[in-house]
Amino acid sequence: MSVRVEFVQEGKYALVSPGSMSVKELLSAVGADDATHVFVNGTLIDDLGRGLRAGDVVGVVRESIPGRCSICGRRAFVRIPYARLTLCKEHFIEFIRKRVGKVIEEYKLIKGGDTVMASISGGKDSSTMLQVLSELRKDLKFDLVALHIDQGIPNYSEKARSAVEELTRMTGAPLVLITYRELFNMDFPDVIHRDRSGRPPCSICGLTRRYIYNAAAVELNASSVATGHHADDIAAYALKALLIHDYRSLVKLIPRTETMKGGVAHIRPLYETYERETLLYSIAAQLPFVAQPCPYKPRNVLEDQLKTMFNELERTHPGIKLSFLRGIVRNIDSYMVISRADGQVSNETRLCRICGLPTSSEVCAFDRFTQRILGNALGPYTREVVKVKIRGLNAGF
Ligand SMILES: [Zn+2]
Ligand SMILES: [Zn+2]
Repeated sequence: MSVRVEFVQEGKYALVSPGSMSVKELLSAVGADDATHVFVNGTLIDDLGRGLRAGDVVGVVRESIPGRCSICGRRAFVRIPYARLTLCKEHFIEFIRKRVGKVIEEYKLIKGGDTVMASISGGKDSSTMLQVLSELRKDLKFDLVALHIDQGIPNYSEKARSAVEELTRMTGAPLVLITYRELFNMDFPDVIHRDRSGRPPCSICGLTRRYIYNAAAVELNASSVATGHHADDIAAYALKALLIHDYRSLVKLIPRTETMKGGVAHIRPLYETYERETLLYSIAAQLPFVAQPCPYKPRNVLEDQLKTMFNELERTHPGIKLSFLRGIVRNIDSYMVISRADGQVSNETRLCRICGLPTSSEVCAFDRFTQRILGNALGPYTREVVKVKIRGLNAGF
């Protein structure tokens, strides 16, 4: 096995046999001594003297790449094969903003007067989303509120939280900050430690996160919740759903989904933005973001393999991810018919007997989960905490 060096700006890679090479020696071997950002397996590193192991993936971002901007002729920062463009930093920033703006318009994600609650993790994707939305709101005239959940994960959550705090200061978006500790009286590692069902940490995180942002959106009377899922995420989920014929999941993978009655719509403004573009945008626009994967993220799951496969296809068929995603939107009615015929989609919505939020069963998943692992259904308490935070926010407006 070799080390894979990805030239993020050019969408190219090289395979190098590591021997006993340091990162610095590797960069020099591939002609990237001018790297400004070096990532090893997704984590930004400062120590270029560190050694490499077979199987490592090294991502490299440089100040500029060979070539000139297609628009202004300045030094190039990125090549975008599907658009047949080479762009400088400034025109790349403009390109991404226009692209997100076009998705918002085409799929009617946001209209004037809306209140959008953006769920922000501190990573490159949702940071890009918040910053682009904060720029677009100047023309579109909507309100934007950021929500962040501090999970208390050692050596991770603190960095994520300070990135979010800095980003919201930069963008002027009011921040609703909720901590695991105030809800559960313990941090995320202790919550998953208590769970004996074998449920993966990501699934527990997703369940609590969804509950908190839906509760906050209902309280805020928001028009929608925006999440930072990008084209690479969604294409991988969608292909996986097709592979296992899970049409119920597939029909949710469109730019806007209306959730159950009494719930709030979910929007995905980065539907047509690639993952490498959110990384490069965060760097070009100098956004604060935590440049390391969550320690609980599993490696080499099917979604990751599908992402790698899509990126491989993208090199010979630029834009294939985009046409795949647009095809889902185009055919969504047919997929809805299949998933209904399969009995996979239930139209029934009711309100949770315990907390009163919309759910498809008698008691919502969050109340069932907290009842099981903490002995106490925490839905009503969580809604109360969220209410107090949002009141504080309104007072500060
Ligand atoms: Zn330019
Ligand atoms: Zn409930």
